[in-house]
Amino acid sequence: MKSPAVPRSDLSRRRFLGNLALGGVAVLAGGLVPSARGAEAPDLLASRHGRKLGVALLGLGSYAGGQLAPALGRTRLCRLAGAITGTRAKGEQWARDYGFPEKSVYGYDTMDRLADNPDIDVVYVVTPPALHAGHAIAAARAGKHVISEKPMATTVADCDAMIAACRAAGVRLSIGYRLHFEPHHGELERLARAGDFGPFERMEGGFGFRLSERVWRVDKKLAGGGPLPDVGTYVIQEACRARLEEAPVAVTAREGRKERPELFNEVEEEISWTMEFTGGAACAGFASYGRGANHFRAEAPRGWVEIEPAFSYRGIAGRTSRGPMRFPSVNQQAAQMDDFAACILTGRKTPVPGEMGRRDVAIITAIYEAAATGKRVAVPT
Ligand code: NAD
Repeated sequence: MKSPAVPRSDLSRRRFLGNLALGGVAVLAGGLVPSARGAEAPDLLASRHGRKLGVALLGLGSYAGGQLAPALGRTRLCRLAGAITGTRAKGEQWARDYGFPEKSVYGYDTMDRLADNPDIDVVYVVTPPALHAGHAIAAARAGKHVISEKPMATTVADCDAMIAACRAAGVRLSIGYRLHFEPHHGELERLARAGDFGPFERMEGGFGFRLSERVWRVDKKLAGGGPLPDVGTYVIQEACRARLEEAPVAVTAREGRKERPELFNEVEEEISWTMEFTGGAACAGFASYGRGANHFRAEAPRGWVEIEPAFSYRGIAGRTSRGPMRFPSVNQQAAQMDDFAACILTGRKTPVPGEMGRRDVAIITAIYEAAATGKRVAVPT
């Protein structure tokens, strides 16, 4: 059964809002941020819609509790309206802590009942990657818009099933690519688009941290792999963005040496890869659960961009061949969720759709094949 995530009475208002052409700046949590895409005035959107969009977090782990729930307190267009969890008592505690009704706490097995809850417009899936597809599809079938955390899934087939389910239900799907809403990274895209330096041709990036616990991140069935899908995704994302969302044509890869084979007996501890883009452009990537890394550099014929730390929640810094980048700090998660809400309210396309998540899972799949075979692997389009 299809049930609209936004009440039908709002549809005409949504159509009206969709026709508004407001541009200039997006007022995001944390300050005024220049928008590359044109943006809507959040206060106007919120007041026209009558209420903020209700977001239910699914999977109340460290990212949901440490980042997303606090960020929802800083959004202009969203509010934390429910929880989907395997531990009912935890959900009820969240209901008390965040002020939503206990009736808006669901189990993974009672998600069909979300269809009867008009307070919840969006389900944000924050479970281990192999579970994203099942949870996202259940949310879509209940008529809710979906945000899926990265990596979107562990197989391209699961990504396709998520995209198909959201399309069939008439709901929107986006991926939790928070850095698309961070201004240093936005500047990289702006420079690529404006062509000031010419096309970015030589790129290099790495993201890693030392993982010492036996958690789902080292369980291949749940994680789909090791640091590559978990943190390497950020480097893949950034390189494609510097190429204006072009996917690489081919990849090569090599798994690093395992220092702790007892912990990394299912997934890699470290991996290096290259992505070849059209015209001979390339990016060297690195992802690790053994050591720290957090940088991205892109060189073009007439200039360069360097972001370090590149992928953190806070404290991102960067410079270009013209000098230091000076941008305000933003709450990336709040900005990301507000942008998705604005997309729902206006009908605008999200800059981080399911198709982008699928592209990145296809690249990851090709990188693993290249590492396993030692061969250059073409990335299917
Ligand atoms: P976590 O282990 O802290 O939380 C996972 C949650 O999923 C827990 O509430 C757990 O109870 C639940 N869960 C349900 N079924 C489970 C199962 N079978 N096995 C294990 N847990 C199960 O993990 P996390 O760090 O919060 O990551 C969750 C998701 O968020 C992942 O997809 C991860 O890649 C993503 N993430 C994104 C960012 C980002 O910056 N965008 C940062 C951290 C994590």
